[in-house]
Amino acid sequence: MKRERLSFLIISAWITACSFSGNAQNKILFAQNPIVAHRGAWKLNNLPQNSIASLKHAIELKCAGSEFDVRMTADEVLVINHDQEYNKLQIEKTKYKDLRAFDLTNGEKLPTLQEYIKAGLKNNNSTRLVCEIKPSDINKERGKAVAEKVVKLVQKLKAEKMFVYISFDYDILKKVIEIDPKAITQYLEGDKSPEQLKSDGISGADFHFSVYAEHPEWIQMAKMNKITLNAWTVNEAADMDRLIANNFDFITTNEPELLIEKLKH
Ligand code: MG
Repeated sequence: MKRERLSFLIISAWITACSFSGNAQNKILFAQNPIVAHRGAWKLNNLPQNSIASLKHAIELKCAGSEFDVRMTADEVLVINHDQEYNKLQIEKTKYKDLRAFDLTNGEKLPTLQEYIKAGLKNNNSTRLVCEIKPSDINKERGKAVAEKVVKLVQKLKAEKMFVYISFDYDILKKVIEIDPKAITQYLEGDKSPEQLKSDGISGADFHFSVYAEHPEWIQMAKMNKITLNAWTVNEAADMDRLIANNFDFITTNEPELLIEKLKH
């Protein structure tokens, strides 16, 4: 009887251990710093922006987040690129295979969102995937369709808990929370107060750092309304100091190594 009880306990413990190790999402421990690497951590090592290599380096640096930009090709493939154009081809009007013919400067292929998420989930339980959904240059509806496709892919790959959605287009963020009401969203444009964001169900402000100098009252308003505070793109030491002094949740930067040094002091 005693032996049976013991084997039962051992088996239960083993099952519990397996269920934790089998699912990376069960053991997310986000890095305890405010650093979001803007388009990945690319600058110091001369990596292409928005490359999988720059994402991996942000994860190695244990940044709290790594940002990237999503656009959709003419044949509706989600790809990672900042500009409207890639190798002088307009992404929204070009088929994916024609874009993919050109490599990034480090030899990588133009990453799809699916490839990017898979790379971002690998050996990573500390760095958020901060996904900027770019508005469409064709029309507003296409932007919302991109948002829907992005959220559905994130759900399919079970990456929800690692994701933060950001956009300059308010309706894109509203679309994201319509599909996933628990999604974490941050608005980029800087033309809405934290109270407004709160009443619209948006979780954070991610404004250009100069906006907080124009509206210093928004910092306190955000904290009172539990609106996350993020700022872009903060590359100068003095600007970093000001945001650190104001206890910003996140600081988005092209210089994550400099911000790591700043936070040590
Ligand atoms: Mg961006």
